[in-house]
Amino acid sequence: MAPSADSSTDDPGTVPRGIGALESCVLEAIDDAEALQLLRELIACPSENPPGNEGACARFLASFLERRGVTCRLVEVAPGRPNLYATVGTSGPTLVLCGHLDTVPAGGGWTVDPFSGTVTGGHVYGRGACDMKAGVAAMAAAMAAVKRSGILLRGSLALHAVIDEEVGSAGARKAAAEQPGDWVIVTEPSGGRVLVTGNGQLNFEIVFHGKAVHSSHPEDGRNAIHDAAGFICLVEEQARCLATAPCPGIGPATYSVGLVKGGRGGSTVADRCELTLDRRVLPSEGLDAAEAEVRRLLSRLETERPGLGWELTRTVAFPPLRGTNTGRLEQVLNDALVDLGRTVAEPSHGMRFATDAAWYEAAGGSAVVFGPGDVAIAHQSDEHVAIEELNTSTRVLALCCVRLLTL
Ligand SMILES: [Zn+2]
Repeated sequence: MAPSADSSTDDPGTVPRGIGALESCVLEAIDDAEALQLLRELIACPSENPPGNEGACARFLASFLERRGVTCRLVEVAPGRPNLYATVGTSGPTLVLCGHLDTVPAGGGWTVDPFSGTVTGGHVYGRGACDMKAGVAAMAAAMAAVKRSGILLRGSLALHAVIDEEVGSAGARKAAAEQPGDWVIVTEPSGGRVLVTGNGQLNFEIVFHGKAVHSSHPEDGRNAIHDAAGFICLVEEQARCLATAPCPGIGPATYSVGLVKGGRGGSTVADRCELTLDRRVLPSEGLDAAEAEVRRLLSRLETERPGLGWELTRTVAFPPLRGTNTGRLEQVLNDALVDLGRTVAEPSHGMRFATDAAWYEAAGGSAVVFGPGDVAIAHQSDEHVAIEELNTSTRVLALCCVRLLTL
């Protein structure tokens, strides 16, 4: 028989304050060793993007959940690259837990094997340990505990393990369109804080066209590298202007030139220069308005440098996370943290980085970011996550499920 929703407990000495009987039933079904083993096995299953080989990881996670009685579906987003959808519960309101399966490439500089899942000093090491296989392990372990507890949900707990967040977010865009959910928790590394707002991200490829001539007569040609340099100066000037108007809890909108490529050699005037420009977009801004700002800078450069030739292509476009209708979800998560004896961060804390939460918010869900790990050590060599954070996140997600879907 499923336990009742009675909030009393006969054993207040072992159950944290504020935790009801139904909730303690789910917490007791959490298996920390299972979550740790899952994390290590996910790390041992490389899913670097590029190239985007998440298939084996998705199938492994599906088999983990299916062995625990959870219904799973693998749906290809691109050839050989499936999203995994898993569900526990019934029709009704839906809590979606979303995490991406892909990681950035391992790269060099590691002191341990990046796919070993080495455990030392209370931390697990490996590519994706923090960003974000710990988050994926936490949500799968929480779902396994809910299933194992046998509690009856008045709605459904859904897990979306998606592809491609590190490049184009094809996985979350598809998942959010198919099942936006009523509440969505993206378990990206948040240092255990509930983050409700975040910057969007635009990337552009900009090509400047010049005319190649012998460098002894540069006035006869057009130097595309010099044009690009003029543009970079305008970008820096605009960035200084943006820095004067920061968004509370996040900071200012920013610019960064990430790549410059052009020229043929010392004795030839450069006929082409490409650059990649990153613009972080505040929750108060729109993507189109931010692109218009870049185009204004190019128009200004045209005035300063008559005959300028350029092309601009938008290559990455994450909308900002505005924190729409997140009040109840934020409260439930923060209450769970308090009830588990953790401190709660200042309200309205936001992210400077873009996450898949934005796609769910854009699809009509209320979406926040909460998960184990510190984003400051993501994408680095010797990436790691604290096991204690994995365990706390698993408990918070499980409590959140009970409180949103049974009360
Ligand atoms: Zn991530």
